[in-house]
Amino acid sequence: MTAAPQRRLILFSGSGISADSGLDTFRTSGGESLWAQYDPEVVCNFDCWEENFVLVHDFYSKRREELGKVAPNPAHFVAVDWEKRYNAELITQNVDDLFERAGARYVMHVHGFLTAMRCVACGAQWYFGYRRFDPAADRCPKCGRVETIKPNVVFFNEPAPRYAEMWRSLESLTDEDVLVAIGTSGLVLPIGQIARRCPATTVLSNLQSAESPSDDDFDYVLHGHAAEIAPKLDALIKALMES
Ligand SMILES: [Zn+2]
Repeated sequence: MTAAPQRRLILFSGSGISADSGLDTFRTSGGESLWAQYDPEVVCNFDCWEENFVLVHDFYSKRREELGKVAPNPAHFVAVDWEKRYNAELITQNVDDLFERAGARYVMHVHGFLTAMRCVACGAQWYFGYRRFDPAADRCPKCGRVETIKPNVVFFNEPAPRYAEMWRSLESLTDEDVLVAIGTSGLVLPIGQIARRCPATTVLSNLQSAESPSDDDFDYVLHGHAAEIAPKLDALIKALMES
C-alpha cells in the first residue's frame, strides 16, 4: 500500500493581512498614515536613499515603533497552523514580523525585514528590533561604518534577491497542490496572472469585503476581515488539503 502523495500548500501574502492588525500600508495611506507624511519615492528609493539618510531612517524608525505596538491577527495565526499541520510554505511581501510573532518557524520575506539592518558596504545583516536608529550611537557591527547602514527592506529600484527562490517555489506547484493568496492587491506582484498559470487549486482572500480585480483568476474567493474570514479559510484549506 502506498501513501497518497503529500499535497503542498503555499500561502502568498501581502499588506492586506497586516492592515487587519492596524498597520498602515503603502496602499491604504491617507490622513494620519506614515505613508502620507513621507514621500515613498524619497524614503523607499534605492537610487537616492543615501542623500536622504536622515529622513529614510526617521521614516523606518517610526515604522518599527508602529510595528512594536500592533499584534498578529487571526489570519496570521491560521497561517501558522497550516505551517504546523501541512508544512505550508509562507511567502510574504510584508516586511513586518507578525507571522513570526504568531509562531511561524520560517517565513520567506521577499521584500526584506523591517526589524533588521544591512550594511551596504560590507554586507553585514543584523537584528535591530523596534527601536529608533541613532546615527550618533549605531554602527555596523562588522565594519563600524554608519552612513552605509540601511533598513534591511527592499526599496524601489533595488534588486529583490529572494525573488528567484519565490518563483521556484510557485512554479513547482502541481495540480495536487494548493495556493492561497491573502491580502495582496496584485499591484506589486501580479497575483492574478500567477494564479491563472498555476496548475494548483487557487484561493484568494483580500481581507476586505470588496471584490478585487483578480477574483476571476482564482478557483475560490473568500473576502472579509481577518477575524471573520480566518475560520472559513481554515475550513476550506482543510477540505482541500485532506481530500
Ligand atoms: Zn559594514
